Amino acid sequence: MQTLHLAPGRERSVRRYHPWLFSGAIRRRQGSPADGLAEVVSAEGITVARGLACPGSALEARLWTFGDEEFSAATIRARFEAARRLRHEVIAPQTTGYRLLHSEGDDTPGIIADRYGGTDVLVLAAGGAAVRSAEFEENYRRVFTPGKLVVRLGDQAPSPPGQDVTASFLEYGIHFLADVAGGQKTGFFLDQRENRHRIRSLARGRTLLNCFSYSGGFSVAALAGGARRCVDVDSSAGALDLAREHRRLNGFPADEEDFVETDVFQELRRRVEAAEQWDIIVCDPPAFAKKKADVDRAARGYKDLLRLSMRLVKPEGVLLACSCSGLVSAELFQKIIFAAALDARASLAIFERAGAGPDHPVSLYCPETEYLKAFFLRKRG
Ligand code: SAH
Repeated sequence: MQTLHLAPGRERSVRRYHPWLFSGAIRRRQGSPADGLAEVVSAEGITVARGLACPGSALEARLWTFGDEEFSAATIRARFEAARRLRHEVIAPQTTGYRLLHSEGDDTPGIIADRYGGTDVLVLAAGGAAVRSAEFEENYRRVFTPGKLVVRLGDQAPSPPGQDVTASFLEYGIHFLADVAGGQKTGFFLDQRENRHRIRSLARGRTLLNCFSYSGGFSVAALAGGARRCVDVDSSAGALDLAREHRRLNGFPADEEDFVETDVFQELRRRVEAAEQWDIIVCDPPAFAKKKADVDRAARGYKDLLRLSMRLVKPEGVLLACSCSGLVSAELFQKIIFAAALDARASLAIFERAGAGPDHPVSLYCPETEYLKAFFLRKRG
């Protein structure tokens, strides 16, 4: 175990149960982090927290317990069990794909797990969790009893050659596949489930342009809700292959013109020039701001996309504007949407503000982990 001695005055965030310890707060390191464990000691010599050591990372420890509470296998078990009980209460009907462990939100900092039907993906992202993988895996199996378990260490994606790594699952009765080896996130964007369901309820008889579609989840949900036509736009050929597969799996046709492999910015410009009009536009880009210095550029990117999208929406149509950049707050994102509306000379009203679903809880002690914003906007006539 490594003992991390805080610089004077740096225990404030630890005293407020914040689970992140940044390397800048540490004055002195004692002992070895080889077993993955860290103990945090204040400048006065009092133990204030325990958790996982992540040597070499700016986030040098992930704190699991505070004050004199021990951190042991029993802690891990108790946290996993609490997470399981929450899912029992909140997971939607006919749904077998959901997040089981959401890191800080489940008091399991540095650990994520997603369930896709009979396959679970356990991500031991924190260095200390990867070192202690046997312990985490054992407790995970005991509490969650997965069918098949794929374990990812650190940021690396596993690609066990020759293994079947596509997992099938249900979302509100819709069949989806998660590419658990090569896909983005752990293979699917589970965080958008409730927003896909909302789009489904709005889609009857309507057309939908799904920008940054990934594997086409929003389109399949809309088709299940009776949409007339859905077009997926993404720059990834692999994602669009899965999108075609998803339509077939659910008994919808997969016409070639409904899958466009290109850059969304260019595609939106082209469609605005062609004076196209759509009932629903979904705009769900990747995180444009990964660090503070990116925020201004990200804001310009979002504004561009939204300005173009607004011009493509029919009067009384719907624009779903999403941002998954944690560094862009809901308040800032709303300002960006407003600036885009001014530029597009479009009048829109927010009729629903949403985020990730209830299987992505946010710890009050770590609000910066709330990342997904989803604004449902209606264009005025
Ligand atoms: N809405 C999706 C998730 C979107 S993730 C869902 O519900 O599943 C973001 C997607 O944007 C990724 O699939 C990525 O391949 C794609 N992407 C990133 N930059 C792009 C660009 N400039 N043009 C088109 N697609 C892009």
